Amino acid sequence: MSYTLIITEIRRGQFEERNLDLFGLSHLMDKPTYVLCPEGTYPINEKWADVIITTGLKEEEFLMPMNICKALEKVFERFNISDEIILTHSSSGTECASYISGYFALPVITDVNGINKDSNGFYKSYYSDKVYGEFVTTTPNTIVLTVRSGSFKDKVKEKSEAPKKEKIDAPLAEDERSFIEYVEEEKTEIDITKAEMLLSIGRGVGNKDEIPSYEELAGIMNATLSCSRPVVDKLWLPKARQVGQSGKTVRPKVYLAMGISGAFQHITGMKDSECIIAVNKDPEAPIFQYAHYGIVGDMNKIKDKLKELLKA
Ligand SMILES: Cc1cc2nc3c(=O)[nH]c(=O)nc-3n(C[C@H](O)[C@H](O)[C@H](O)COP(=O)(O)OP(=O)(O)OC[C@H]3O[C@@H](n4cnc5c(N)ncnc54)[C@H](O)[C@@H]3O)c2cc1C
Repeated sequence: MSYTLIITEIRRGQFEERNLDLFGLSHLMDKPTYVLCPEGTYPINEKWADVIITTGLKEEEFLMPMNICKALEKVFERFNISDEIILTHSSSGTECASYISGYFALPVITDVNGINKDSNGFYKSYYSDKVYGEFVTTTPNTIVLTVRSGSFKDKVKEKSEAPKKEKIDAPLAEDERSFIEYVEEEKTEIDITKAEMLLSIGRGVGNKDEIPSYEELAGIMNATLSCSRPVVDKLWLPKARQVGQSGKTVRPKVYLAMGISGAFQHITGMKDSECIIAVNKDPEAPIFQYAHYGIVGDMNKIKDKLKELLKA
């Protein structure tokens, strides 16, 4: 039987919002939606699923990809193999997808953000969303997909009937690593989520020596300095300042983005700001699609000019 199988992401007993995109994609494909969950009770709208399968795995066991592979063996024994196995495009979703792909020798497409129903194709984007690629499988095999957060959540619809509940007993896999605990992020005095105005800098800043000058500008503007991920990866600013999918979600009154291209992982964390102003030397930079105001130019020159004007 033809069906899609969703592997849910549950964290500390909470149903992660990005799971919605997995349901949205499944519903868009008009196939029965089977959902694989760890043990426990989660606030899932059961009417999104046709079949809910619990595995007997605790949440922390469900985080281990080899346990998921073993659980999938049981699922496929019971229901035959699914057409698609769908996961989130998060660090754990992509990790698990690669294990599943290797374990069952299945093709995988990561970061899917659209489908072509006519060709059974899946889209993903390149060059910061400037170009899209379409992929189809050349064999009728099952395919593993990781789904970009925010791409399909508006396609979720309720089924007319309550789902069937199934239980499998997934054996624990032998694994050379084990999950210990969730580690809380270090608390810092600066909380960028509370700021009314953020001056956010990206890789375009060029080098670390420029940072103090942007801190000074933020001070003059009564803003808080935040940044994109590469600035954190280069250790130019601490992680607590990072906006985006793997950083903080912010909604300031004003978000001034300088030298940030507008990758979706960044946009996801700041798109609901009341007023977005973007400065970028590339007029085609995707950030301009989200900005209320845009300035094409060299951020370092604009920063100096702003300082000059605001100090005057
Ligand atoms: C799982 C995952 C999670 C991620 N999470 C996050 C996240 O939370 N936050 C995040 O930001 N990213 C995240 N990323 C990374 C993301 O994909 C992008 O790589 C990142 O956002 C790009 O940062 P950037 O815009 O600063 O750099 P780039 O994409 O390199 O863009 C630099 C921009 O600066 C412009 N520029 C260069 N010089 C100048 C100048 N002198 N004046 C003006 N403009 C200039 C360029 O035209 C370019 O548009 C994540 C990626 C993955 C895979």
